[in-house]
Amino acid sequence: MRPIRVDPEEEAGKCVWCGFCEFVCPTYLAVRERAYGPRGRLRIILASRNGNLTPAAFRALGTCLVCGACDEACPVGINISSAIWTAKAKLAMRVRGARRPRSELP
Ligand code: SF4
Ligand code: SF4
Repeated sequence: MRPIRVDPEEEAGKCVWCGFCEFVCPTYLAVRERAYGPRGRLRIILASRNGNLTPAAFRALGTCLVCGACDEACPVGINISSAIWTAKAKLAMRVRGARRPRSELP
């Protein structure tokens, strides 16, 4: 399923942290680190609400494949892959904006 634009924080706020999604996530299964699974990425989204994001957290979000396997596993029905995809898009825009020369800023 193609990702759609959602409110990442709203989706992340519905999580009950059961962890069912981790066992279908290819990146979590590859590295076995919570930050590289859906649950960890939702936590990162909530933790970065104020714009603070460490390079490690940035990498953890960026390595999501947006495959959608986690969406099927979530008993709450959270649109996890779209939340991560939207958060990644917002981050990319923020980074691109930060790199624009001052003369190009509106
Ligand atoms: S969409 Fe991202 S978080 Fe969800 S299963 Fe795929 S790689 Fe993991
Ligand atoms: S399966 Fe859903 S409710 Fe459970 S940890 Fe994953 S995202 Fe949260």
